[in-house]
This record gives sequence, C-alpha cells and structure tokens, in this order.
Amino acid sequence: MTQPQADVQEKMKLLRESYLRQLPQKLCDIDTFYETLRKDPADNETARNLHRLAHSIKGSGASFGFKEVSSCAQSLQTFLQPFTEGGMRMDDKLLDELDKLINALMEAVGTHYRQRPEAADATPAPVSVDSSQNDENRLVYIVDGDSRLRSEISAAIRQFGYEPRGFSRCDELAKAIREKGPSAVILDFVRMEEDAAEAGKIISIRKELGGRVPAIFISDCDDVKARLEAVKAGSDAYFVKPLNIADLADKLGSLTTSRVSEPYKILVVDDEPELARYHSLLLREAGMVTEIVNAPLEIFDRLSEFGPDLILMDMYMPECDGMELAKTIRQMKTYFSIPIVFLSGETSFDKQMSAMIMGGDEFLTKPIKPEHLISAVAVRAERMRTMRSLMERDSLTGLLNHTNIKIQLDMAVARSERLNTPMAFAMIDIDRFKSVNDTYGHPVGDRVIVSLSRLLQQRLRKTDIIGRYGGEEFAIVLNEANVHDAKQTIDKILRSFSRIRFRHENKEFSVTFSSGVAGFPEFRDPETLSDAADKALYEAKRGGRNRIVIAPS
Ligand code: GH3
Ligand code: MG
Ligand code: MG
Repeated sequence: MTQPQADVQEKMKLLRESYLRQLPQKLCDIDTFYETLRKDPADNETARNLHRLAHSIKGSGASFGFKEVSSCAQSLQTFLQPFTEGGMRMDDKLLDELDKLINALMEAVGTHYRQRPEAADATPAPVSVDSSQNDENRLVYIVDGDSRLRSEISAAIRQFGYEPRGFSRCDELAKAIREKGPSAVILDFVRMEEDAAEAGKIISIRKELGGRVPAIFISDCDDVKARLEAVKAGSDAYFVKPLNIADLADKLGSLTTSRVSEPYKILVVDDEPELARYHSLLLREAGMVTEIVNAPLEIFDRLSEFGPDLILMDMYMPECDGMELAKTIRQMKTYFSIPIVFLSGETSFDKQMSAMIMGGDEFLTKPIKPEHLISAVAVRAERMRTMRSLMERDSLTGLLNHTNIKIQLDMAVARSERLNTPMAFAMIDIDRFKSVNDTYGHPVGDRVIVSLSRLLQQRLRKTDIIGRYGGEEFAIVLNEANVHDAKQTIDKILRSFSRIRFRHENKEFSVTFSSGVAGFPEFRDPETLSDAADKALYEAKRGGRNRIVIAPS
C-alpha cells in the first residue's frame, strides 16, 4: 500500500492539471450567469448560482494551491452574499462592479495557462504517512531448543491459520527475519543469568523486529523477576511451561488481529470531482479506503453498499446542501451515529454552528493541510469504530452480538437479491458444552468459546460476517458463497477445532461443534433462512454431532 513520495507528487500534479482543465468551463458558466443577471437584475436564483460557483472555486482553488484564484473568487463570493438572501437588487453600478470582479478572477485563472500549470503557487505538501501493513502475513517464527515443543506449538497454531516456522537457535531466527518479516514471534526466553550471550541475542532480535511485530515469550520460570526481565526484553505476552497451547494460540490471535485492523472506510461527498479526488487521494495515502460521491443524492445507495466509518462532506452542492443531507442521514436509524465531517470554504461561525446542529461532528475549512485532514478524519473514524464496537460486539469474543448479526443477515439477503448472487447462513453450536462447564468450570468453558471465535475469525474470509448468536452458538453470514462452498469452508474449521487440545490442570480434552447451513436463493428471506439453518443444526445434533447439515430446499 505504501507508495513512494514521488508517486504521490505525480498524482497531485495530475490532479492539479485536471483541475485547471475544468476551470474554463466554470468561467464560462460564470459568464453566462452574469449575462443572465444583466438581462434580469432581479433574478436572485441566478445570483445564488453565481455565489455558489464563486464559493466552490474559492475552496477548491485554495486546496490545489492557486491562492490568487481563490482570493478573487472569495471577493466575488463576498460581493454576491447580500443578493443570495433576497431583498438586494442589482443595478447598473453594481453590475459593473460584478463585471470587474469576474474579470479579476478570469485574469487570475489565465495566469496559470500562460505559465506551466505546475509552476503555479505552492503545491500542497505531500503527506508522509506510513501505511505499510501486511494483512496477509501469517508467518509465525518459533524459537525453542526443544523440538517436540516446537512441533506441538506449530501444529496448534497451524489450526488457527498461521504458517509456523520453527528454529532451534536465535541465530537462525535472526537470519530468517532478514529474509522475511513474520507477523509474530514465539521465543523460548533465556535469562541473563542462564546464558548472557543468548539473552543478549533475544534483546537485539526484539529491537530489530520493532514495535509492530508482537513477541510471545515462553519460559520455565514463573517468578516475578523473570517476568519483569522478559518485559524489559520486549515481551508482549509471557507463558509458563507446560504450555496451555490453546491459550497461547488465543493470545497470538489477539496480538496479531489487533494490529491488522481494517483500514478506515471514508465516503467523500463533493460535487467537484477534482477536489473529491484530491481529498480522497490524501486519505488513501494515509492507508484509508475511500469512495467518492459527486451527486449528493447518490449518497444513500453508497452508504449501504460501502458501509463507511465516516462521511467527509462538502457543504454546498447543487441538488441539496450538506446540512440538509446530514440531517437526512441522521434521521435514518442505521446511520444515526456515523461521523460526518464537513469540509467547506465556509468561514462564517454562524453557518458552521448550524452545520454542527444539523448533525455535523466537525467542521474543517478549505483549504486544509493534508496532515490536518488525515488526523481529523482518522481520530473520528477510530472513535466511531470503538463506539460501534462497544454497541455491536460481544464483550467475551469481540464478535457481533445477536442483534447485529441479524441486521447483517438482513442486509446480506437484500444485497444478494439486488445483485443476484448466492449467499449462505450458517449456525454453529458447540457440542455437549454443558459437560465442559461441569467438568472443568465456567472459565474454561469461556476459553473454549474464545478459541472457537478466534478460529472462525482466522479462517473465514474478510467478507464473511461472524456473530455470537447466544451462549455457545455462533452465526455466520457467508457472502457470495453457495451452501456447498459454505459447507466446505466450515468443514475445514470443524476439523481444525476438533484437533485443538485444551488443557486444564494437566488434563487434556478436545471439543467439537455441529453446524446447520442454509442458502439464498433456496430460502429467500432472512427469517426462513435462519429457521432453515436452525433446523439443519438440530438435524446435525440428532445425527450424532460433530457434523454439518445443509438445509434441504
Ligand atoms: P448440545 O450438544 O446439544 O449443544 O449440548 P450442550 O450441552 O452444548 O447444550 P446446552 O444448550 O444444553 O448447554 C449449553 C451450555 O452452555 C449451557 C450454558 O451453561 C453454557 N453457556 C452458555 N453461555 C456460556 C458462556 O458464556 N460461558 C460458558 N462457560 N458457558 C456458557
Ligand atoms: Mg446451545
Ligand atoms: Mg451446545
């Protein structure tokens, strides 16, 4: 995802050039409006259109670094302001003044055609943001002199979708890291007093990996001194032998998944294509995913399709303004809490306040510094993620809760219907879970639930949606999968899960689950689909458990 700075500069240059290319059309429009006003000085609608155009050139001109263009447009906008509110009428003197302002704007634009476009004013500074994140990396390096333990850990974490690679010594690990960086390392911790040279190597490897790659230390010692020493050497987690492999795999899951978070999704709404592309480019360079809406009324379709974390919205657009749009979005239950950040040339405090009252979360003024735009958007998108997660997710597993997986099912069915694609819904229930609780205690039962949820998260595709349906029940929406593909996928997970060895007080045990799968279009609405999956799950239980049944259509 990271692109060289030169590439960003090149893209910005192209955007500036493209912006310049469409300016003459805007000037023609201004000219036409002016002629219309000359013929009918009482035509306030035309005055408003002219005002809107001036406002937009003021904002976009400044964003692309054309200061003179922006300031001429601003003078034009200020001049027109009283006419937009009605009451004021043009007369010949005022029309002459207007003519002068328009000429000044044309002159300012014209200089950029006489120069080479890129020589104009200052190009907005390119942003330097590290967006390197490799979310496909599943490599985990394990260093332990004990080959039996190495293969035991390897086998366990392979079940969770990782690619383990074992080494017996730190030197070999150091070499492998230089060849290809892992997503995490698991290290047999050696204390200074045991072997100073080896301990030193661990510290230097930890440093080399940097803060991004988590390190799990395993050790024979359970005393506080050893644990402290491990923290100083850079451990993110500490496990004492004999290892509880399932816990280790859980920890690995939480350490790696929290770092590989999904990029923020930002919907950029601006009627000016170049400006929308410019802001979108800045956000993309910071590692976010963006979509652009140029026609404000299309926003409602894009909201449900794209599911953004935040809307970056221009305030003045032709069909309806940003404030009205924000209010409408806020009135829809699903989008009640989505952050809306206004980005506008509007500098009037009153207008900004009313935008906030209408449902804006923040008001940014064009032109905005790239770093400022990125941080304002990232902070709010992150807060939105956290809030949403608290509301929508189950606290034990972090999966969607019952209500929200049902909402996702509704949305998925609607989407499949519209796009005419298949989808599947699977229900999963852990077998004889009551006896796990009864034998090993409730906290151990909880660990089993967390393990299964991690396994599902690791093994399913990003496009699949997982929920905790109830106590030891899970539900999965598999987008664009027919029931047979879905069954195959879940079957692999079923086999992996049954192979996980859980340990409690030196007793080992394993657990299985059963699943029922139903598909769209065989079942055409969310209720019949989930009923069918539920019945199929019941059949799987009746048939002996540890199996998957497809709902007959
Ligand atoms: P079956 O194979 O038929 O599904 O048998 P089962 O024992 O899994 O089914 P049953 O529905 O009778 O029992 C489910 C148990 O799961 C009962 C409940 O105490 C336990 N349970 C529900 N939620 C949790 C939880 O969050 N943590 C733990 N540890 N146990 C839970
Ligand atoms: Mg149950
Ligand atoms: Mg059960």
